[in-house]
Amino acid sequence: SQTLPEMLAASVQTYRKKVALEFFGAATTYAQLGDEVSRVAEGLRHLGVGAGDRVALVLPNCPQHVVAFYAVLRLGAIVIEHNPLYTARELRHQFEDHGARFAIVWDKSADTVAAFPSDLALEHIVSVDITRALPLGKRLALRLPISKARRAREQLTAAPRSKRPIAWERLATRGRLSRKHPGPKLEDIALLQYTSGTTGTPKGAILTHANLRANAMQGRAWVPGLRDGEETFYGVLPLFHAYGLTLCLTFAMSIGAKLVLFPKYDLDLVTVAAKKSPPTFLPAVPPIYDQLARAAARGTIDLTTVRFAISGAMSLPVATVDRWEQATGGLLVEGYGMTESSPVALGNPIGPSRRPGTVGVPFPSTDIRVVDPENPAVDRPLGEAGELLLRGPQVFQGYWQRPADTADTLLPGGWLRTGDIATVSSDGFVTIVDRLKEIIITGGFNVAPSEVEDVLTSHPDIESAAVVALPKRGGEEVAAAIVVRDGVDISPEAVRDYCKTRLAGYKVPRRIVVVDDLPRSLIGKVLRREVRERLMS
Ligand code: ATP
Ligand code: MG
Repeated sequence: SQTLPEMLAASVQTYRKKVALEFFGAATTYAQLGDEVSRVAEGLRHLGVGAGDRVALVLPNCPQHVVAFYAVLRLGAIVIEHNPLYTARELRHQFEDHGARFAIVWDKSADTVAAFPSDLALEHIVSVDITRALPLGKRLALRLPISKARRAREQLTAAPRSKRPIAWERLATRGRLSRKHPGPKLEDIALLQYTSGTTGTPKGAILTHANLRANAMQGRAWVPGLRDGEETFYGVLPLFHAYGLTLCLTFAMSIGAKLVLFPKYDLDLVTVAAKKSPPTFLPAVPPIYDQLARAAARGTIDLTTVRFAISGAMSLPVATVDRWEQATGGLLVEGYGMTESSPVALGNPIGPSRRPGTVGVPFPSTDIRVVDPENPAVDRPLGEAGELLLRGPQVFQGYWQRPADTADTLLPGGWLRTGDIATVSSDGFVTIVDRLKEIIITGGFNVAPSEVEDVLTSHPDIESAAVVALPKRGGEEVAAAIVVRDGVDISPEAVRDYCKTRLAGYKVPRRIVVVDDLPRSLIGKVLRREVRERLMS
C-alpha cells in the first residue's frame, strides 16, 4: 500500500537513468526528478509547509509542475490544482474557497496572485519561469497563450502589492529533505481538485492518496501489454484537470514511463516532439484526435507508434474513431469518468471487443447502478435509461466546504451520483445519454442534446454543434448553434430538413444559428450553458 510519493520513490529506485520527463527536448531522469522533489520539499518545509497544509499550484504542464506536485505531497501537504489561464476574478474565487496559505504559480500569474486582497489566507508565493531551464532557441519557440493572463493582471493593478513572490530556483538551495521526514498516510487528503465548472461553479473534490493510487492501479489493469520502463506518454492534456493528472502523470510515474509534457496542446509542438520521442500512450479528447488523425492522414505526422489512444471527458463520435483508426492503424477507445472518481470509472476493453459509441464496462473494483433520478433508491430495469451511480475505491470523500452538495452527491453505501443519464446493455456495456441537467423537456418529451448534436455533426458541412433549451411560453424549445466548415454556406432550413429525416419531430431544433465558434472549457468541452446565454441575448 503506497502513497503517491512512495510510488514515485519506487520508480526513482528502479528506473534511475531512464527519462521521466521531457519538455521541448530537455530530459529529466528519474534520479534527477527524485532529487529535485526532495530539494523542493526541503525548501517548502523551510517556508513553513507542513502536513495537512494546502498548497495552490497555478501552473501549465512543465517539469516544475511535476516536481511541485510530488514535493508538496511528500510533506503530507495537500495540492490544489488551478487552471493557469483563469482570470484574476476566477482565481480569486478559488483562493477564497480553499484558503491556501502557500501558492506556487507561473510568472504570468504571479503578480495577479500577489495582488489578491490581504484578507485572503495566502502568505507565501513562489514564482516559476517555466522557460528558464530551456536553451534560448527553445525559449523563443515557446509561445504560450498568455494574453488572458495579461488581461487578468491589468484588472488588478490598483490592488496593493503586499507579498513579493520568491523565485522557484531559491527553493532548491537548502539541501535535501531528510529521508526520515514523515510522509502522508494512504487515507490522507492528497488533492483538492476542482471540477470543470461545466454546469456551474467549480467545486473542490477531496481526493486521498488511496483514491488516486487506486485509479492509477485500475488504469494499469485496464491497459493490456504495458511495458514497464518502456512507454512514452504524451501529456497534451492539462495536469491541472483530473483526467490529465491521473492518466498522464500519476499513471506514467507509477510504471517508469517517459512523460513528454506540452504546456498546451498544439499540433506543431506534437509533430516536432513525435520525431524525437514517438508516443506510445496518448490520452486525449475527441477534438485533439480529430486534428491529429487528419494530420496523420496527410502524412505530416507519424502516429503508428501509438498503441493506446484513450478518449474521455466528453462523448467520442464514431466518425472520429474511424478517422483515427484508418490514419494510424491503432485502436481508439473511450472511457468515462469525473473529477469525483479520480477520475476514471468505466472503460472499453482495449482490444477487438471494444464497442464504439459506448463508454465500456466498469473498472476493476467498481460497481454501477442505473436509478430513477427522482428517487435514487429505486433501480431502473436493465436497458432502461436512468441516472448512473458509481461505487469504488476511486470515489472521492466529498466537496471542500460544501456539505449540502456532498450530501446530494455521495449517497449512503458509498454511491456517487454522476448526474449523467446512462443505459446498460444486457452484456454490461454502458452508454452515456447526456447530463441530467441538460436534458431538454419540450411538449412533455425528453430530448438529449447529444443525440441531436450527433445528427447535426454527421452532416458533412457541419463541423461542430451545441444543442440547448431556450425558454418559450409554457416550457422549453430545442435550439442549436452550429459551426460550419470553412468556405461552405448552409441555410437553417436545409439543416432542419436534414434533421427531419433522422429525428422525431419534437427533437428537431426550432431555432438554428450559425456561429463562428463554440465556447469550450480548457479541456475542450462545449459549454452549453454559455451557448444558451449567447442565444438568449
Ligand atoms: P461540473 O461538475 O463542474 O459541472 P464537469 O462535470 O464537466 O463540471 P468533470 O469532472 O471534468 O467536470 O467532468 C465529468 C463529466 O464529464 C461527467 O459527469 C460527464 O458528464 C462528462 N463525461 C466524461 N466522460 C464522458 C464520456 N466518455 N462521454 C460523455 N460524457 C463524459
Ligand atoms: Mg460534474
